[in-house]
Amino acid sequence: MSALSELCQEIERCNRCDIAKDRNRAVPGEGADEADIMFIGEAPGWHEDQQGRPFVGPAGKFLDELLASINLDRSQVYITNVIKTRPPGNRDPLPQEIANCNRWLNRQIELIRPKIIVTLGRYSMALFFPGKSVGRIHGTAERKDGVIYYAMYHPAAALHQRNLREVIEADMRRIPELLTEVETVPQAVSKEPAPQQLNMFEG
Ligand code: URA
Repeated sequence: MSALSELCQEIERCNRCDIAKDRNRAVPGEGADEADIMFIGEAPGWHEDQQGRPFVGPAGKFLDELLASINLDRSQVYITNVIKTRPPGNRDPLPQEIANCNRWLNRQIELIRPKIIVTLGRYSMALFFPGKSVGRIHGTAERKDGVIYYAMYHPAAALHQRNLREVIEADMRRIPELLTEVETVPQAVSKEPAPQQLNMFEG
């Protein structure tokens, strides 16, 4: 069994947060062990809690379409969330829940070593682009230590605001070019301050 599969099993057993008592399934994440691209959403919803898999509801259907638009499917990338248990009633994750789950996300990143980390929505964006707003920085990338951090709106945003659909689709279409850049340019110079990695919610 791979180290990542072992980690996922550990995540499934985690009960640090009270919300673990109410879940059907934890949702560690899924995809390729050595994915170049890692997508990080917010938290499992009802469908994910039922199946133990990330992004399997309506937002996930759109994410699948977005992946197909750049000739990828979910087996070729890694998809996970900031927190691995569904908050009751789909409420926002609490800071303590984010802090508790941060160890799992950090470990997933260490094991997978993605070339691009794509944040989906404001909760994962806050980990890598603290203090920024998704409305301002979506579609922009930062490079640090050979990894590109790329901010996108959450796919669910397009389900609530139809006008965001094309914005999200356009942002997705930039990913192949970013991958080429990170593979070919040793260390691009970023004009923006580098994102702080996962240091605001250390648990
Ligand atoms: N929304 C998320 O942020 N993650 C999921 O897994 C599903 C919906």
